Amino acid sequence: MSANLINASLKELAAALAAKRVSAVELATLFLDRIERFNPTYNAFITLDRTRTLAQAADADARRAAGESGPLLGIPLGHKDIFCTEGWLTTCGSKMLANFISPYDATVVARFKQAGAVMLGKLNMDEFAMGSSNETSHFGPVKNPWDANRVPGGSSGGSAAAVAARLAPAVTGTDTGGSIRQPASLCGLTGLKPTYGVVSRYGMIAFASSLDQAGPMAKSAEDCALLLNAMAGFDERDSTSLQREAEDYTRDLAKPLTGLRIGLPQEFFGPGMGDDVRTAVDAALAEYRKLGAVTVDISLPNSALSVPAYYVIAPAEASSNLSRFDGVRYGHRAAEYADLNDMYCKSRAEGFGAEVKRRILIGTYVLSHGYYDAYYLKAQKVRRLIANDFVEAFKRCDVIAGPASPSVAFRFGEKSADPVQMYLSDIYTISTNLAGLPGMSLPCGFGRGGMPVGLQLIGDWLGEGRILNVAHQYQQQTDWHLRMPDDARQGESV
Ligand code: GLN
Repeated sequence: MSANLINASLKELAAALAAKRVSAVELATLFLDRIERFNPTYNAFITLDRTRTLAQAADADARRAAGESGPLLGIPLGHKDIFCTEGWLTTCGSKMLANFISPYDATVVARFKQAGAVMLGKLNMDEFAMGSSNETSHFGPVKNPWDANRVPGGSSGGSAAAVAARLAPAVTGTDTGGSIRQPASLCGLTGLKPTYGVVSRYGMIAFASSLDQAGPMAKSAEDCALLLNAMAGFDERDSTSLQREAEDYTRDLAKPLTGLRIGLPQEFFGPGMGDDVRTAVDAALAEYRKLGAVTVDISLPNSALSVPAYYVIAPAEASSNLSRFDGVRYGHRAAEYADLNDMYCKSRAEGFGAEVKRRILIGTYVLSHGYYDAYYLKAQKVRRLIANDFVEAFKRCDVIAGPASPSVAFRFGEKSADPVQMYLSDIYTISTNLAGLPGMSLPCGFGRGGMPVGLQLIGDWLGEGRILNVAHQYQQQTDWHLRMPDDARQGESV
């Protein structure tokens, strides 16, 4: 084991496994040891089970010995704690589910198992995926490995910190309004939210069902493509899963970008974006022009309405989805109560945190008789206008580019007292979810405080292959995605 395995790509790890330079058990042990050493600093993993992980790794080694092969056979991964994992805790970052052990695997988890990937553990997240800083987790905040005084982003903050600190080569995340792209941006990773319906939501705890989508987070676009190959595909257990032929997302990675039309929405380059973010994004666009792409000015005129529309629609769906947590069937139940109604009230009052309660209250209000038309129906109409903006824009360009986040990672407490400030962290990502389109963030430099900056690429419907290609070509010319925080370098050459 002489190669630098902790910073290796999935392809390099797969090659090392295939050549028997390392076994799945050795690889899992390497990452478990790093987790043991560094996780107390970052709080990225919240559930670990060395025995089970090593058993899975031994199984991968046995499958290989029996003649099986595959790009993910023996590759260690972490899963966001929103995915149900049979026999492991699945908490969704909440006290409500702090004791919940799922009797079944989410489709995403089952597919990775089938591919022979090895689960390292479950990753911390904002409670029920509501947040942009990982400060709402019942299990405490996650620290950004680039600066432990700053947030990793959210809600997939544990996922992002784990890869940034090189505690896992790759992980899963979910994105309802930006939760893959914003933490990827803040932690210097590559993360992809696929087109709605490409990845099954079965066994993924629901936040806002019409927006939720799972996706990969890793160091590079190529790694994300390999992971998406395993995650994507029709699932009859998810009624919104798209029924279509399997796609190889690595297929177009090598395609040259000559003549590519990159749309730059004027609304994304306004005063809301930090100067340091703008400098890095502009430099990335210059790199794309060198690669043969042309940039075109476009407009997404209803962008400013995306955050307000989202904060009606997402809480409405959340209030309905979260009604199942009533203390009766599973999850937290209050120890003392007077009658059934009191049991519901106390269990929910104790089990949910403040942000989740805020969303339930907003959602219940906008769905209530007399307000439904004024708020919920109106927001749905705005959602249609936002989706139409993209239809118009993609007549003039092949992909859309801009910042993923208005600023680099902020400090703990900086936005947590003001929900609206926090909500604005997703100003550039939310419209993509409302329109159901694919989007990704990839590292494109560093800004204030030496913190990573992410470039966002948005694709047309089912255009994930295209944006992965566009990201990969950039990563062939630049090395931002290979940079790692100083802390992660400890124990680097093993
Ligand atoms: N930050 C957004 C929210 O709090 C998005 C979260 C997400 O994508 N899961 O709702």
